[in-house]
Formats: sequence, C-alpha cells, structure tokens
Amino acid sequence: MLWAVCKRAYIRLCSLPADHILHKTVTEAYSDKDRPLSHPTPIEKLARLFNINPSTTEKIPALKAVSNLSNFVDTLSFPTREDSIEHERQDDTGTRVYTDGSGQDGYVGAAASLYLDNDHQPVATRHLHLGTMDQHSTYEAELVGILLAFWLLITEAGHILGRQPISIYTDNQSVISALTSGSRGPAEYIKDEIARLCDKYFPRHLTHRVTVKWISAHSEVPRNEKIDFEAKQASLGISSDRQHLPRLLRAPLPTSISALRQILKRETGVKSEEIWRQSPRWERFANFEDNYSFRNFHDIADSIDRHKATLLVKIRTDHFPLNAYLHKRKIIPSNACTSCNEGSRESLRHYLWECPKFASQRTKLREVTSGSGDSLELILKNRAHTEALLDYVVNTKRFARNTQTATPLQRARIRED
Ligand SMILES: [Zn+2]
Repeated sequence: MLWAVCKRAYIRLCSLPADHILHKTVTEAYSDKDRPLSHPTPIEKLARLFNINPSTTEKIPALKAVSNLSNFVDTLSFPTREDSIEHERQDDTGTRVYTDGSGQDGYVGAAASLYLDNDHQPVATRHLHLGTMDQHSTYEAELVGILLAFWLLITEAGHILGRQPISIYTDNQSVISALTSGSRGPAEYIKDEIARLCDKYFPRHLTHRVTVKWISAHSEVPRNEKIDFEAKQASLGISSDRQHLPRLLRAPLPTSISALRQILKRETGVKSEEIWRQSPRWERFANFEDNYSFRNFHDIADSIDRHKATLLVKIRTDHFPLNAYLHKRKIIPSNACTSCNEGSRESLRHYLWECPKFASQRTKLREVTSGSGDSLELILKNRAHTEALLDYVVNTKRFARNTQTATPLQRARIRED
C-alpha cells in the first residue's frame, strides 16, 4: 500500500538529526503546510498528508556516540530465567538499583529504587510518567528506568560511584544489549544522556564499573516485584518532583519513533482489512476466514507439504481441476467423472461425497469430519478437518504429484507412496 510506504518514509524523515542535510527542509515543509502551493515538492506533500510535527519527534543520530557507555558499564545476562533469579538471590553487592518500565491501559511510566547496605527497604524511589502509548514505547520507558537509576546513584550515593561494586537490575534484555552497543536506534538520546552523566560524575580513575544485570520479570523476587508495582504507578500518572529528576526528564520527552511506527502498523492493518472487505473476493473467503490475516490458512499451510498446500489453495479459491471445472473452461470435451464412469458430472460435490470409486477413502474422511457434515465451509474452518480432507484427496490419487519439480529425495518418497 503506497500510503503506508509514504508514511513510513515521512516518519524516517522526522527522525533525522539537526545536522542532517534534509532536517531544515523537513521542518520547514511542516511549518508551511497550510500555505497553498501549486507545485509542492515530495517532502511538502508528505508534510501535508501526515500530521506529524518533526519538531516534536525524537532524533536518531547517524554518528556513533561521543562518550562510550562501556567505559562505565558492564552488562550481565543469563541463559535462563532460573539463572537470573539464582544470581539475584546470591548477589552480595551492597548497593543495588531496581528499575522497570511499564505500559498499561494506554499509558507508559518508569521507576527506579535504590537499596543501600543490603537493606530490604529502598532509601529512595523515583517515578516518571512518560505519557500515552501513542507517543511513547515501553522500551523507551525501560531506558528511562536506567537513567533514573544512574540519577539516584549520582544524587544519593555519589561518593561510591566507581569506587565500589554496584548492581542495576532490569527485566528487559534488549535494553541490556543496547546499552553497550555502538549502533544507533530509537530512544538513543536517553542512552546519550546516561553516557553524558557518567562522563561528568564518575571519578577519573574508577576501580569498579556499574553492572547492569538482567532479572527475569514475574520471578517472585521481592525487590523486583516492588519495582514492577512502582512502574505501574508511574504509568498511571505518578511522577517525582522536577528537582528530583535529571534535566532531560524535567520537560516532556519527544514523541518516540517506535511508537509512531506502532501506530502506522495498526492503521495499515485497519486500512488493508477495509480494502479487502470491499473486494468481491472477500465474499468467498468470509465463509472460512475471520479476517484478512487468513489465520486458518497460515496455521495449516505451515505444517503440510507443498503438494497438499497447492491442493488446499485450489480448493479454497474454487480452482480445483476436476472434469466439471476443466470442461467449463473448454480444456476437455466432457465433464463426466472418469473415475466411476457412471455418467455423473465430476463436480467437487461428486468427487468428495458421491463418487463410488472412493468410498473407502471417504469412510476415513467422514470419521474425522462428522461434525462438519458435507459443508466444505465448515471443514475449511477447522484445522483437523482440513487435514483429513487433504489426506482424502491424496489417498484417492486423483491428482498426481508433480514429480518434475520435486527434489530427488521427494521423488524417492513419492515412489514409496
Ligand atoms: Zn465418479
């Protein structure tokens, strides 16, 4: 759909940083969008078509970050959730911060709690309500959680930064891998702010780096359950006072590019469904599919071989090459069934339910599909019934496999059949 391709391209243009050659053109195209133009440029057309203000969206830098977070941060992930729970239980780091980002009921929030001296109660907790899910992503919230963690350490435990071991826990593995990766993606400005703070507040010669560790979510680890609750409170609307937040978080955050892409994905789904429902072809498929995603078909097509999948498509699209079908298209002289030679027209109905030649195969089919009766629509709605139907078609040997295109291994299997 051209519309979706254009919107995707425009979102990408909105994410260009200020030093990009097109940044000014994109910003001006939006601020002038109400001015009538007889010959708008492609970018001006896009700005008129999609109501996204490039001045309020986040920018994704093209260049590598100036300060490298891996100078200050180690990351630790685990192969299984049990390993992560066990590590947390045995962790004897005195200073720990638990962080979480949460998206619920359409809103996004983040929180971090600082624990000192292995205490069970946090000495301080910070919350930030980011806004709606249409403008912010939970991934962004998880990164805000990490930023809040560093801010807590700087403001409440600045004297041990870089001098003692510190653990930060998050339940998000993509955040862990993003922290020390050099590539640039969404929510990158939050990572840059963490790096800037580290550069400023860590001592010149540090003896210990901060370790960001993965802890599996919903793991019954008390401190992690507690921060999960605090992040949910933040998504409901709780934010710490401005003076307790790092500078970046004191003003509303820019609109997230991932959130805009999510909206686009939703809109594209709705639009394609609309187009499809207006199509005359939908009438046929509506009998055995609930919507445009064709789940019934994909569920079964993934588990059957190519020969059966081809047969299934032919049955679903009403192009099953029985004699009645071929005769109607003037490919063969007669529509009579050549399997039983009793003079009946070889329709799909005759082939499936009436032809005496295939009575034994049909007994097997009926055993499975009794619930669907003779209704092809009901059979195609049901996965087990559809598989039995395809088995019937294969067992009647009415349609030979195409051995020309089969691989040697497949040909050997066909001969065994
Ligand atoms: Zn027949």
